[in-house]
Amino acid sequence: MSSTPETNSSAFHTDSKKAPVSTSMPEHISLDKWADTGFEWSGEVDPNDFERLVAMLSTEHDQSNLHLSAELYRRNNVLHLAFTLKGDIWLTCQRCLQPVAVDLSDDYNIALLENDSQVRLIDEEQDYLLLDEIVAVQSPERLLPFKKLVEDEVLLKTPLAPKHDDCEMSVEQFGEIPEEEEGENPFAALASLKGKL
Ligand SMILES: [Zn+2]
Repeated sequence: MSSTPETNSSAFHTDSKKAPVSTSMPEHISLDKWADTGFEWSGEVDPNDFERLVAMLSTEHDQSNLHLSAELYRRNNVLHLAFTLKGDIWLTCQRCLQPVAVDLSDDYNIALLENDSQVRLIDEEQDYLLLDEIVAVQSPERLLPFKKLVEDEVLLKTPLAPKHDDCEMSVEQFGEIPEEEEGENPFAALASLKGKL
């Protein structure tokens, strides 16, 4: 059952009444359709499907699918997107240049606010985004950019300078090897979009 045959049947792209199970990850979730009833999706995601992430992935090692389980729901009348990721991505170790696995497994939860006044309805530590800033405006219905939001979180979790725990450069004679500056995560701006002031 773990083998996922390529079922790229475009039949699933028709306007299905129910949230499709085990098709590829939806780009968007229609808020008009699902914001009230809630929406769930779970399935396998190929890290190579994340367009911004792909540049950071190792090409020396096959990527394996991540398991994603996501839910859109309301709590205190505030929309939340919660998801659980399980799995690793392969990046390039910045010390030995060999592939290194980075575990992305975690639980993520973002409140999606209609406006600033909803901030008082959520916990202080709760991450949040304003729907106005993320919902696609050009479409006739309000679409939550589901895949993009998941990728944002993946990018924030992805280390800029991944390294093996146990590989060392064999350089002693110069004394201490200065740790590379971590530098700013190029995706740090994504974090600043979120509520934490
Ligand atoms: Zn290494």
